[in-house]
Amino acid sequence: MSKVVLPLIWLTISCFSLSLQANTSVNDLDFTLHKLDSGEDGPTLLVIGGIQGDEPGGFTAASLLVTDYQVKKGSVWVVPNLNFKSIIKRSRGVHGDMNRKFLSLPKADPEYEAVEKIKSIILDKKVDVILNLHDGSGFYHPVYINKSRNPRRWGQSVIIDQAMIEAPKYGDLAELAERVCKSVNNNIKYSKTHYHVKNTNTRDGDVEMEKTLTYFAIRNNKPAFGVEASKDFRTHTRALYHLRVVESMMGELGIEYERGFKMSLRAIKKRIDNNVKLAMFDNKVYLDMAKARSRLSYIPMKKGEQIHFSASNPLIAVIGNKKSYKVRYGNRSVTQLHPQYFEYDDSLSTIKLWVDGELKDVPFGTVVDVKDAFKVEPLENYRTNIIGFARQNIKDDSGVIVKRKQISKRYSVDRASRKYRVELYREGKFCGMILVNFIKQRGVDFASTGDSG
Ligand SMILES: [Zn+2]
Repeated sequence: MSKVVLPLIWLTISCFSLSLQANTSVNDLDFTLHKLDSGEDGPTLLVIGGIQGDEPGGFTAASLLVTDYQVKKGSVWVVPNLNFKSIIKRSRGVHGDMNRKFLSLPKADPEYEAVEKIKSIILDKKVDVILNLHDGSGFYHPVYINKSRNPRRWGQSVIIDQAMIEAPKYGDLAELAERVCKSVNNNIKYSKTHYHVKNTNTRDGDVEMEKTLTYFAIRNNKPAFGVEASKDFRTHTRALYHLRVVESMMGELGIEYERGFKMSLRAIKKRIDNNVKLAMFDNKVYLDMAKARSRLSYIPMKKGEQIHFSASNPLIAVIGNKKSYKVRYGNRSVTQLHPQYFEYDDSLSTIKLWVDGELKDVPFGTVVDVKDAFKVEPLENYRTNIIGFARQNIKDDSGVIVKRKQISKRYSVDRASRKYRVELYREGKFCGMILVNFIKQRGVDFASTGDSG
């Protein structure tokens, strides 16, 4: 049985502008480069996440740059998923430590091409400064305090290989790193989690550090820094610290930006947890998989055609074969999709839907918030299927007012039983689907069926 792995990309929040063919294997999960160009002159910062697959703080922060930042001056290039296969497999490195492959590497190495490709991006004339995001053990501190806080630890540090390089700009690495730490620390209340500059003095005989990505950049006179968030923190906390360092570096370089969420732990966690959306076949199939059930059945996929996916997040991959697909999101397992194959009908692109008494024309691939009830406007020759809503001897679910309590909870997409699929068919062919989302009400929850949400 041949396995198919689908790397997914979505470039803007609301439109699925890029989709990839399914015709790949697990070994073809390539990293993606996202150029956030402002169009205004200024420096270019390259941010890399996921060189090791088990450091989610770094690659999650990098993915948030891709999905939630707009650059207004200068450019930020982001590779959020450098070792994508290891990220998806939740391994430090399925083919060994990729961050030891930058001094020399035999062509036979399975990661040879990926390493060559990221090297050429690092050497791109436009790239001025490189940040490689890691999650490190404990807390780096220049003098020994205790077992978890000492010079041998890595967490909460900005790493340089040497103080200075011969670069046209930003060659004083030590000074720039100190300035970044200082401005980051201004925003960190507790001095115990403050950042420090760690100089590995790589060329003085650190044979391990000589093999790293940053030292490859240094050897080529490119300013590069390792950035470490402490593994003592949970993923979203690490991501917040990483973003603070990235933003401080942008500030030092004069790169201007806007961010789509508030810089708080709560907002970042929510954004990370909710940004799991998947569209297939030109948005006709659309799944918001935030807190999805572990298994989603009867997904109407297109008969006899390669699957095209796009996703809301560059850390999402879909791995599988015709019978079932596993959806992975970074180190997380999201759900398993079990398809049912249909011919597709292209005669419609919207559903006419009454939402709490108001008629709306809802495009396929949309989530519609419903407070109390909805009704699909009947359409001749078309059949509506509200997944989980069953009436005796009636096949078409249009023309009926539907409340949450009338739908069987276990058919929801999400574990909280709020999001349900509404699908349209014409003569047995699938036309498209939307999701209705029964939102929580203030005070009384009209649609409540007794769960806690
Ligand atoms: Zn690392």
